[in-house]
Amino acid sequence: MSDIPYKVYLSENEIPSAWYNVRADMKNKPAPLLNPGTGEALKAEDLMPIFCEELCKQEMNNDDKWIDIPGEVLDFYKMYRPSPLVRAYCLEKALGTPAHIYYKFEGNNTSGSHKLNSAIAQAYYAKKQGLKGVTTETGAGQWGTALSMATAYFGLDCQVYMVKVSYEQKPFRREVMRTYGATVTPSPSMTTNVGRKINEQFPGTDGSLGCAISEAVEAATSQEGYRYVLGSVLNQVLLHQSVIGLETKAALDKVGVKADMIIGCAGGGSNLGGLISPFVGEMLRGENQYEIIAVEPASCPSFTRGSYVYDFCDTGRVCPLAKMYTLGSNFMPAPNHAGGLRYHGMSSILSQLYADGYMKATSVKQTDVFAAAEQFARVEGILPAPESSHAIRVAIDEALKCKETGEAKNIVFGLTGTGYFDLVAYQKFNDGEMSDYIPTDDDIAKSLAQCPKF
Ligand SMILES: *Cc1c(COP(=O)(O)O)cnc(C)c1O
Repeated sequence: MSDIPYKVYLSENEIPSAWYNVRADMKNKPAPLLNPGTGEALKAEDLMPIFCEELCKQEMNNDDKWIDIPGEVLDFYKMYRPSPLVRAYCLEKALGTPAHIYYKFEGNNTSGSHKLNSAIAQAYYAKKQGLKGVTTETGAGQWGTALSMATAYFGLDCQVYMVKVSYEQKPFRREVMRTYGATVTPSPSMTTNVGRKINEQFPGTDGSLGCAISEAVEAATSQEGYRYVLGSVLNQVLLHQSVIGLETKAALDKVGVKADMIIGCAGGGSNLGGLISPFVGEMLRGENQYEIIAVEPASCPSFTRGSYVYDFCDTGRVCPLAKMYTLGSNFMPAPNHAGGLRYHGMSSILSQLYADGYMKATSVKQTDVFAAAEQFARVEGILPAPESSHAIRVAIDEALKCKETGEAKNIVFGLTGTGYFDLVAYQKFNDGEMSDYIPTDDDIAKSLAQCPKF
């Protein structure tokens, strides 16, 4: 056994003091957001009725490589960061692989995922601007939970539109949010114009992230002193999540390890973007080479089967247009249990990096994901979130390939969260009742045909 510890810990003062903005190092910048009415590129000012001022500036900032983390955000980070980088010795042994597997574990906080890293930053900027509160959507509930923790900390009101199917299936997640003081409304609701319209158009719908976004945006823009916040996809969120990658890089450097392969699950792309940013930065500057793999569910395959075009970010078509790998804003994924990976689109930053060949993508089937989750839980102890388990699946598969070739690759993956609220999904898997629905080419083509033409 090597002398690398099971957990590579950083000390509190090794938490980065600035976020890294990978856009500054990108030659091909991510495409700008467009006004859906005029088709013109948006400026920071155009976004200010929707988002907090400082966050609009971060959204548009393609130039500053480093953005200081405010002291109050750093203080909050210190309550649950640095997060450990774990050497998966037990998994390696179980697989009999010569590969060295590491995972960065972001589930060590009450919200149970990496989303708190951005929630606390966004709540801070809302507070600093003197707002009363924020509105948002949540799918599986992790983002809403993280945001309600963050808004409670800063004394802000928090209104969450929760995708109806999750609202009904995950009453405990809802209760955590309410415990932290948030108001939770199932979406589509009858409390917004767009919600009423969607309910009329699709009676009895289970809702989707795209619908809930439309409702939350309307709620923010129709109430004085409110802004909308989003937990993934946006450039600002990837920026905040760079804390994951910076810590990972610092921990690997500390033990003298160079990653060969970096793997992460991709829903809207925030954890993966944050994890890989400092590494991709080195690739962009020509300093180093890494193999980067995005893993998505076969039921919602934006990278692997979507198109790289301008599309709406939400079903109600009230948000700006983003150029991204998308399945179409009307795409309704099958009820996959990895709720956090069901978004139709993908971060513009990751989309551009993917188009430019800096990363690969692969999709995995739900039952294969849960098989990997259980294998991992039994040897490494942590009960992983279904989203995170997409990365586990591919990390295991890659480690098994190393067994064939005898290569001792350093494989690093992001373990984004824990699965305590996903036990209905685990139950389905354990009872052999989990399905693997994969959309047909026709399903995807139909949905993509409705993308706006630019
Ligand atoms: C939300 C979530 C994801 C996916 O979101 P990204 O923005 O793609 O990172 C992954 N894992 C967990 C645990 C989540 O809560």
